[in-house]
Amino acid sequence: MMITENPNIPPKLAVALKVLQALSFWVILLKPMIYEPQWAQSSLGTPIELYASHPLDELKKLKPIFLLGGVHGDEPLGVLLAQRTLELLKSEDKKAHPWALVPILNVDGYKKNTRVNGRGVDLNRNYPAQSWSPEHEKERYYPGPHPGSEPEVQAVVKFIAEFQPRLLIHCHSWKPMVVCAGEPGMKDAHRLAKSSGYEVQAEIGYPTPGSLSQFGWFDNRIPVICIEEADEASPKDVWPRFENGMREIFLDPSVR
Ligand SMILES: [Zn+2]
Repeated sequence: MMITENPNIPPKLAVALKVLQALSFWVILLKPMIYEPQWAQSSLGTPIELYASHPLDELKKLKPIFLLGGVHGDEPLGVLLAQRTLELLKSEDKKAHPWALVPILNVDGYKKNTRVNGRGVDLNRNYPAQSWSPEHEKERYYPGPHPGSEPEVQAVVKFIAEFQPRLLIHCHSWKPMVVCAGEPGMKDAHRLAKSSGYEVQAEIGYPTPGSLSQFGWFDNRIPVICIEEADEASPKDVWPRFENGMREIFLDPSVR
């Protein structure tokens, strides 16, 4: 999956992402890091990539931080933030807290620049949370035919069950805020807030049945941070805004 395949990406962002891709190829060669090009498959059979700090059987014992980008395919700034976080982790691999990272979960939606996946499902309404509901106001929030119907979501659910991450982070773009579900995630949410100047919110401001926050925190007691970059933000501002927060979360050994 080429990260630059989204047709809505401004040319400058596309160039920046291509440079990052070229760099990451060389960093992969230099660093012993886990890369699973076919970690999972989308509903249309497209491979979904996963990167991790340790071999996956080792990682299971290490309570990793799990970060997702591109849950909604029309939010390329969230993919950019995930990608830049990955570059940081690759370069600091030995010092970082154990982690796993999926740059683009909704690979088919990302190619088509749609919020929903290849089957028209909003992945952040499809989690098999107790709150899942078939009701939805607009097609773009279609939660799927039943809870956890989508392979992209099934892959995340399986990962959570097997790895018991200590923290889930997913990167979006809409209105600028850092949404945190779960008190144990608040310290890290405030690090992102301090870094970005965005406010921490306990709720996004409207009901999100079947979302990762609902499934992660309310059903499984794993804190979930949802980063919302401003939709209209300039790509060049995204990483400077969040870099310090990400560094503190992943690289500060004193908090574990
Ligand atoms: Zn989103």
